[in-house]
Amino acid sequence: MSEVLNPATGEVVGFVPASSLAQVDAAVGRADAAFRRWRAVAPGERARVLRRFAAVVDAHLEELARLEVRNSGHPIGNARWEAGNVRDVLDYYAGAPERLTGRQIPVPGGLDVTFHEPLGVVGVIVPWNFPMPIAAWGFAPALAAGNTVLLKPAELTPLTALRLAELAREAGVPDDVFTVLPGAGSVVGERFVTHPAVRKICFTGSTEVGTRIMAGCAAQVKRLTLELGGKSANLVFADADLERAAATAPYAVFDNAGQDCCARSRILVQRPVYDRFLELLEPAVRALRVEDPAREGAEMGPLISAAQRDRVARYVDGANVAFAGSRPDGPGFWHAPTVLLADSVADRHWREEIFGPVVSVLPFDDEADAVRLANDTEYGLSGSIWTRDVGRALRMARAVEAGNLSVNSHSSVRYWTPFGGMKRSGLGRELGPDALHAFTDVKNVFIATEE
Ligand code: NAP
Ligand code: MG
Repeated sequence: MSEVLNPATGEVVGFVPASSLAQVDAAVGRADAAFRRWRAVAPGERARVLRRFAAVVDAHLEELARLEVRNSGHPIGNARWEAGNVRDVLDYYAGAPERLTGRQIPVPGGLDVTFHEPLGVVGVIVPWNFPMPIAAWGFAPALAAGNTVLLKPAELTPLTALRLAELAREAGVPDDVFTVLPGAGSVVGERFVTHPAVRKICFTGSTEVGTRIMAGCAAQVKRLTLELGGKSANLVFADADLERAAATAPYAVFDNAGQDCCARSRILVQRPVYDRFLELLEPAVRALRVEDPAREGAEMGPLISAAQRDRVARYVDGANVAFAGSRPDGPGFWHAPTVLLADSVADRHWREEIFGPVVSVLPFDDEADAVRLANDTEYGLSGSIWTRDVGRALRMARAVEAGNLSVNSHSSVRYWTPFGGMKRSGLGRELGPDALHAFTDVKNVFIATEE
């Protein structure tokens, strides 16, 4: 049994059993058997099951959101969006079974067709920062394509995943088609990697663990999608709408208390407007509502754990703090949103993913300088470009090495557009119209027509 805490108070909110190796192996066996049945379910019926799953999630939106507030400390408004995202992703991929078409390719002497065959058992490994959406980005397209799914939530945040498994059953998802296995990464997650009947791993988490998982998958040529860390740049040019850029910058990095792989944690400001931008940023940071996440209108909650808060605090110790927002007194794992000035690109807080409410700011001179600084990182997940010059926006968007960029906006994730990282931020893409192909293999069949 492992303890589950409310990060806003430090109080215990439940106990969750940890799956043993034997339990994981038994679950893999059942999921493998269920795969033979699930892949044979007619496309229209598989679609109906997923639509019912979406409808049941929708009927339990508030309950799921409240559960996430208690387990993860997410502001209630965010948690509602997250539960709604699970519904939307299920709905979107419910349209897929009937549209998973192959091709007919002209060949002499016969007919050539391709099929997108499901892989088998898919292991989805989820981190603690967005327990519901990240799980759904894996399980919804995997199920739609005809695979069965084993889901391992993070040890810190298993409650909504376990509830989603119950709701799946209620919606009529057949037994052993979607199974949630709480437990340790080193036991459950590793077994997904080493068990030969698990045919694909869909991993979201740290670059360190992702790198190990990739090595493990190599031994079996196991399919793999990786969504890893980030150190994304928010580029603010002198010709931008500075007021909007400054007003929105806090949300681009402090959302989910900065525990977001897409956090724009490096703000680069063109030198002529650097001072003015900081003047505008300060009141926006100070006004951020950092408070009990269950309160309507709360904008930022606590960090996920005491360990994460302490890790974040070490980046701030001794750094050049420009200004900081507020945090409530009392128990819970709180850290105030904090703006640091980078003295050089060698600063640890400039280079490393902090995964907390800390942002570093640095001036730049021109476009070439901005591109060089933005790309001076091992990561390449997201980023924002603020300018009123369309040509410049496009030049920057093509030059910045990141999988998800936004111009005059900070949006990264829409369930119907592709999401994923370049460089060490990941491998493969989730979401969008092509995600099903990451859960299938192409089979080519030639049928001779010669007599
Ligand atoms: P993590 O330590 O990599 O853990 C992620 C998941 O992997 C957890 O479920 C964990 O289980 C499991 N795990 C740990 N060791 C494993 C192993 N040897 N084999 C298989 N699974 C294992 O990351 P985290 O601490 O949860 O999250 C923070 C990091 O994740 C940050 O660096 C962040 O950037 C990254 N992240 C990236 C994205 C993205 O979409 N690109 C999204 C979220 C987070 P336990 O809970 O039992 O440790
Ligand atoms: Mg970890």
